Amino acid sequence: MSSQRSRADRQYHVVCRECVVEKLFESADDAAAAKLEHAKETGHQVVVGRVK
Ligand SMILES: [Zn+2]
Repeated sequence: MSSQRSRADRQYHVVCRECVVEKLFESADDAAAAKLEHAKETGHQVVVGRVK
């Protein structure tokens, strides 16, 4: 039995370059949606980084 089962293979780190917003997602779609939402709401520049 693997002890790393609870960990996702990949995580997506959404970070705003212009304020303190920072979130971690396990799905690229969720990360992209959060990025778009924040950018739309605030006009901030948001980046998504992939975390292994
Ligand atoms: Zn922001």
